[in-house]
Amino acid sequence: MTVSANVQEKLSRLGICSELDLLLHLPIRYEDETHLFPISDAPSGQVVQVEGVIIHTEVVIRPRRQLVCQVEDNSGILVMRFLNFYGSQIKTYAVGKRVRLLGEIRSGFFGAEMVHPKCRIVREGESLAESMTPIYPITAGLTQKILGKLIGKVLQDVQKTQALTETLPEKIIQKHRLTGLKESVMCLHNPPPDVSVEALQARTHPAWRRIKFDELLAQQLSMRLHYRQRRSHSAPVLMQKHKLEKLLLKQLGFELTTAQIKVSVEISRDLAAAHPMQRLLQGDVGSGKTIVAALAALQAIENGFQAALMAPTEILAEQHFQKLSAWFNPLGIRVVWLSGSQKKKQKQAALDDIALGTAQLAVGTHALFQDQVTFHQLGLAIIDEQHRFGVHQRLALRMKGSLSNTVPHQLMMSATPIPRTLSMSYFADLDVSVIDELPPGRAPIVTKLIADNRRDEIIARIQHACQQGKQVYWVCPLIEESETLQLQTAMETYESLSKEFPDLSVGLVHGRLSTQEKTTVMASFKRGEIQLLVATTVIEVGVDVPNASLMVIENAERMGLSQLHQLRGRVGRGSEASICILLFQQPLSEIARKRLKIIFEHTDGFEIARQDLQLRGPGEFLGARQSGVPMLRFADLEQDGELLLAAQATADEMLNNYVEFAQRHIARWLGDKTEYLRV
Ligand code: ADP
Ligand code: MG
Repeated sequence: MTVSANVQEKLSRLGICSELDLLLHLPIRYEDETHLFPISDAPSGQVVQVEGVIIHTEVVIRPRRQLVCQVEDNSGILVMRFLNFYGSQIKTYAVGKRVRLLGEIRSGFFGAEMVHPKCRIVREGESLAESMTPIYPITAGLTQKILGKLIGKVLQDVQKTQALTETLPEKIIQKHRLTGLKESVMCLHNPPPDVSVEALQARTHPAWRRIKFDELLAQQLSMRLHYRQRRSHSAPVLMQKHKLEKLLLKQLGFELTTAQIKVSVEISRDLAAAHPMQRLLQGDVGSGKTIVAALAALQAIENGFQAALMAPTEILAEQHFQKLSAWFNPLGIRVVWLSGSQKKKQKQAALDDIALGTAQLAVGTHALFQDQVTFHQLGLAIIDEQHRFGVHQRLALRMKGSLSNTVPHQLMMSATPIPRTLSMSYFADLDVSVIDELPPGRAPIVTKLIADNRRDEIIARIQHACQQGKQVYWVCPLIEESETLQLQTAMETYESLSKEFPDLSVGLVHGRLSTQEKTTVMASFKRGEIQLLVATTVIEVGVDVPNASLMVIENAERMGLSQLHQLRGRVGRGSEASICILLFQQPLSEIARKRLKIIFEHTDGFEIARQDLQLRGPGEFLGARQSGVPMLRFADLEQDGELLLAAQATADEMLNNYVEFAQRHIARWLGDKTEYLRV
């Protein structure tokens, strides 16, 4: 197909670079111009087509200059209203002209009316469209008409070309009762007259089903292939001995929950295999992932290998270091700390320990993955809050131990609950374990939404809480545009709160403090010496101070749902009933109102995540993943769960039995977008 450079440039803006892209540029909706409704019978609230003769035309000035025409058919009269119009339209729509209108009917002041309908002059008895009119996504300078023509041309030739040859084996087509691909594409561009309009619009029609299936399958294939490739490496076999595990569990002050036991069993089994584990451990904030990670580390250590635990922030890494040292030191296990801000001498000592293997567990930040770090025998890499890191697949390979022909096992942990369908789809290259219950004895968190002009009440509440020996977080507003401004706000808040509470000990923690300073502040908060901790969102992940039972979040309307959920998860960690106060500033945008309503009504992270997915689409959940994973254009994870299951099963079947088909299918749908696979 040849088109001008100008058109080509516009097409590429729509992501269309080939004939196949054009064929897969599918309508976003359809307009039904295949039949006419009598004006008086036309249903309101949906797009309908009517036809009639203009019996009156005038330009009305008030309340605003507009063109108003009355159109009459045998059944009644309809008002057509144009708020923007050209002078020439007054003539075009002169009395006596016959017009066909497409639009939504509403009842207005003068009876039924259509505002800005699609309107054209017709002859009496002019034939109707034979099929639904497809409406395509377009871009400036590229109209429906041009795009429709281009697609039409390619469709004409489609029988002759290879563009849509089948990539699925007949057996799979039969099994899932799929419509042919060519047939489906043709149908979606040119729906036959007898097609179910509802099914087409709702994208449940068999033709849509086929397209979505193919798309989901391509995604599954590429991710499962990636999974298999990584799995083809060898990994140290870490036998299940459970000796150290028993010792640790005995000294803990609590019993593992059923969910913790279940995921530990899954992890332990993986570690004992000869290929690298690639497991994502999901669990809501406070569900107790740390102990699960600790047990996994013990299995590596028990087999003479090292384990590494990496966290995204210094505060969190430090906290892990302390907790794990307290658990492991009594077992005679050596834990070392490595961070970017460490003094040179201490760092060198840690590096030596890691290289010699005297350090059995290394805890730290990104510093653990620097080139200068060489492990003696790394068996397991644990990555906390993995969505903060991305490109996890590269990390483990970098962390090779001295057994250079093996790859360490990998455990990724995330407190951002990911809705099931999303994780089945975008995380199909990982095995997923879910901790789906919280440890017992947690008092529920009560969430309150309060407009920030009622700050006085909050002050009284904080005073009261601290008098009762409770501790409080005050989270400063998030200012995305400027870190300096954010810092300044935090300082000011700290100063004003210090003045407001002369009797309380107030602390401040923010991202610009040195590790040492942060640690000092957090430690004294943990010991109860600080009663009110003013903080920026640095405390969002992982921080664990069970005695803190009141949290105030300023300008909550600026924060995303998962961030609010994470922050709120800092309280409600003890047996004390906890309160989270979300201060917001009016007026609220529509989206902010929806978010606050969700966070107010729900405390279950998975439910919040599910609603967040509906609100914002998958991008936010994927974080750094997004760039590498094939995104979905047609399938809707909420609606197409059943197809996703089918695609998942089919992907493995094809990779096992129909490799060539699988390759062709990936090539068609992902083309050169499979970079991710080669990592
Ligand atoms: P997260 O999953 O958010 O990382 P943590 O591992 O920090 O959660 O655990 C939160 C708190 O719950 C910690 O104080 C931890 O010691 C405690 N905890 C973990 N498991 C249990 C359990 N089975 N019973 C009681 N408390 C537990
Ligand atoms: Mg944690």
